[in-house]
This record gives sequence, structure tokens and C-alpha cells, in this order.
Amino acid sequence: MSAAAVTLRLGHLYPGEMNIYADRGNIAVLERRLAWRGLGLEVTGIGIGDPIVAGAHDLFYLGGGQDRDQAVVAEDLARTKAGALREAVAGGAAGLCVCGGFQLAGHGYTGTDGSRMPGVGILDLDTVAGPTRLIGNLVIEAELDGERRSVVGFENHAGRTRLGPGSRPLGRVVQGHGNNGEDGLEGGVTGRVIGTYLHGPLLPKNPWIADTLIGWALEHRTGAPVALAPLDDTMEEEAHAAAVARATRRRGR
Ligand code: GLN
Repeated sequence: MSAAAVTLRLGHLYPGEMNIYADRGNIAVLERRLAWRGLGLEVTGIGIGDPIVAGAHDLFYLGGGQDRDQAVVAEDLARTKAGALREAVAGGAAGLCVCGGFQLAGHGYTGTDGSRMPGVGILDLDTVAGPTRLIGNLVIEAELDGERRSVVGFENHAGRTRLGPGSRPLGRVVQGHGNNGEDGLEGGVTGRVIGTYLHGPLLPKNPWIADTLIGWALEHRTGAPVALAPLDDTMEEEAHAAAVARATRRRGR
């Protein structure tokens, strides 16, 4: 299949429960950037109890949620979706998992009340809630497909996430807390799955991440690497620069 006239198939996991960080903004960016290139995006919501049909999605999105929503979702993931999700990403489907979604993409999350929520295990990481929330603007130096760029957003999480050897970090913290406020790492990447605490939403001011995901998902769809037509990102780059400037401005000014 050539990339001309392709429609990417996005599985939006738990749009009703995991949606507190303008997650729809991320999906709108994917849709627009595909449309500007003459490509389509078909979004399917996958909710509580819905199965994941093998081979039906090129890209998955799992957004952020409060601990109580996360607990419901964790139970449903383990019961109805974890095996199929693992198979889908092992088959080359891409994924973006943000904040609470990032935590559930790992092995599990121990919440603020001490209860353990199982994760899917598509990223090699584990998360335990700490006594304080890690909140604020976050700037990282990220690396994807051998390319390094600055990525910016906002973080707000109690969870402290630690990576295992099967995931590499999305990037190194320049400003902010990142995965746990201690090791200077942010996010996790395995194969074509990206997990991150960055939201705000993430993709409007970091179009490079959007295009990386689109490229991976198109490769899953068409079976071959796809060169994406460049877009005029002047406005996106200005938004990125303004967010970085705000995040790195010295306190007290
Ligand atoms: N409930 C999780 C935490 O506080 C995830 C937060 C979120 O998605 N904001 O760590």
C-alpha cells in the first residue's frame, strides 16, 4: 500500500475516563497534520468492556486521569485488553501514553492510598505515588529515531516512575521534575510506544513528536517507511519557544 490516500486508524483508549489534560487536543493535532498532507485519521473510542480487535489500529492513545478513574481503567485493561495491546505493539502499532496513561503502560501504579493498579507492560517501568505532587512547566531534551530536540509541556503527578532496562527515557530533564524528580529522566520509549508526563496538551507545541508518531503509524499501515511532506510549523515553533522561555525564566521575575 502506498502512503497516498491512506487513512490511519487510531484507537483512543478510555476517552470517557482518561481525558483530563486536553487529550483531545493531541488527537486534533494528529488529524490536522495528516489532513494537511492529504491523509486521513479514523478515531475509534475504546471504552470499558470493549475488546481490541487484532490488527485494527495503527496507533493507540491513552490519556491522563485521576487515581480513581485510573483504578477502574486498570482493572478493565487487565481484564479485557492487556494481551491484545501487547500483541498490537509487538506487531508494530504505535502508542502515545500520557501521565496516568504512561503509568498504566508500565507494570503497575501504586496510588496515593497504597492500592496497587496493574499496568499493561508495554513499557518497562513502574510507578509509586509519593507524598507530594510534582507540578510545573517541564522542558526536556528528547531523543527519537536518533534525532534530538527540545520538548516542552506541563506536568502534574504524584507518581514517581522508574524505568527498567526494557525502556529508554524519552529525554533528559532540562527544567522541572520528570519521572521522579531524582534521576533526571523523563518518559519512556519501547519500540514505537512513547510514554510521558508532558501534557498541556503535548502535541500542539511539539509537532516533531506528532510527526514521529504519524511516521511510525504509517509504517505500520503501509508496511514501509514513509517520508512525510514537511509542513509550515512557524506558529507551532513560536508556541514551543514561548513555552520554553516561560518554563526556564528565573523565578522571582
Ligand atoms: N493519578 C496519577 C498521579 O497523580 C496520574 C496523574 C495524572 O494523570 N494527572 O500520579
